[in-house]
Amino acid sequence: MQRVLIAGGAGFLGSHLCDLFLHRSFEVICVDNLLTGRAVNVQHLIGHERFLYIDHDVVMPIEIEQDVDYVLNFASPASPPDYYRLPIQTMQVGSTGTYNLLQLSKTKSAVFMMASTSEIYGDPLVSPQSESYWGNVNPIGPRSVYDEAKRFSEAMTAAYHREFNLDIRLLRIFNVYGPRMRPHDGRAIPNFIDQALHNRPITIYGDGSQTRSFCYFQDEVEGIYRLLMSGLNEPINVGNPSELTILELAETIIELTGSRSQIIFQDLPVDDPKVRRPDISKAKKLLDWKPVVKLHDGLQKTIEYFANLSNEN
Ligand code: NAD
Ligand code: UDP
Repeated sequence: MQRVLIAGGAGFLGSHLCDLFLHRSFEVICVDNLLTGRAVNVQHLIGHERFLYIDHDVVMPIEIEQDVDYVLNFASPASPPDYYRLPIQTMQVGSTGTYNLLQLSKTKSAVFMMASTSEIYGDPLVSPQSESYWGNVNPIGPRSVYDEAKRFSEAMTAAYHREFNLDIRLLRIFNVYGPRMRPHDGRAIPNFIDQALHNRPITIYGDGSQTRSFCYFQDEVEGIYRLLMSGLNEPINVGNPSELTILELAETIIELTGSRSQIIFQDLPVDDPKVRRPDISKAKKLLDWKPVVKLHDGLQKTIEYFANLSNEN
C-alpha cells in the first residue's frame, strides 16, 4: 500500500485530494493547522482506517514515523483576502514550510509535489499562459506575498531536484472552484454565489472586464493525480482554458440562482491580473488530461452546496 502526505489537506482542494487518494486505496496523512482550512472538510474521514489527521504548522519542522511515498505541498492561504490578511504567514509557509516538506521528502525518498499557481505569471503580458512564460510580477506589491512565495517554492523545489535528484512535480493550478470553498473566503465564485443566494449586491471589483478561466474541482484533482503519477519533473499547467469576464461570471451566477441581486462596482485590488487563461497543451499531450465539466454544471453543483449550508445556518 502506498502512503501520501497532504499538507493543507483540510483545505478546499486538499480535502478533495484526501478523498481521491483514499478512494484509490492509498493511506493518507493529512497535515494542517486550520489557518484557512476547516475541520469539517475532513470530518467524514475521521475514523477511516487509512486516514490520519495531524494538527501541525508546516513552518515548524515535521517528523513522520511511517514511510511516505508522496508528499504534496498544498499548505498556503490561497484566497487574495486571506493572503492580504496573513502576509507574513503566507511568506513563511511558502518558504520555510516548503523547505520543511522538501526535507521530509528527501528523508523519506518520497516524490514531492509543489502546488504552485497561475499567480506566478503575475499580471501576464501574454495570453494564454504557457509554462515557458516567466511572468510579470510586482515583487513588492500586496499580491507579492503570495506570488513571490510560490515562485520561491518553485525555485527551491527545482533546486532540490538538481542538488539531490529529488523526484519533483511542479503543478501550476489555475482558478479552481466547487463545494468546500468557504462562503466568506473572498474569492469571486463563493462571494458571488453567497451574495446571489441572499439577494445582496454582487460586488464586482473594477469594471468586470478582467478575465479568469475556472476549473471544477473534480477535473482539477484528476489532473493533479495524473501529474503525480507521470514522472514529469517540469512545470505543468492544470486548469480549464474556457475564459470569461468577471462580469459574465456574475451574470451567469445571477441567472443560475434566479437572484434579485444587483451588480455594484467597487475598487479593483492593486495588481489584479487583467487576463488569465492556461495553455494546457502539455497536460493534454503528456497526461492525456483535459477538463470535461462545463461551467454551468460545476456552478450548479457549487450553488447547491452553498444553498444547503445556508439552510443549515
Ligand atoms: P485553502 O485555503 O482552502 O487550503 C489551504 C490549506 O492549507 C488550509 O487547510 C490551511 O489551513 C492550510 N495551511 C495554511 N498554512 C498552513 C501551515 N503553515 N501549516 C499547515 N497547514 C497550513 O486553499 P485551496 O484553494 O484549497 O488551495 C490549496 C493550495 O492550492 C494552496 O497552496 C494554493 O496556493 C494552491 N492553489 C489553489 C488554487 C485554487 O483556485 N483553489 C489556485 C492556485 C493554487
Ligand atoms: N473579484 C470580484 N469581486 C469579488 C471577488 C473577486 O470582482 O467579490 C474579482 C477579482 O478582483 C479578480 C477576479 O474576480 O479580478 C477573480 O478573483 P479571485 O479572488 O476569485 O481569484 P484571483 O484573483 O486569485 O484570480
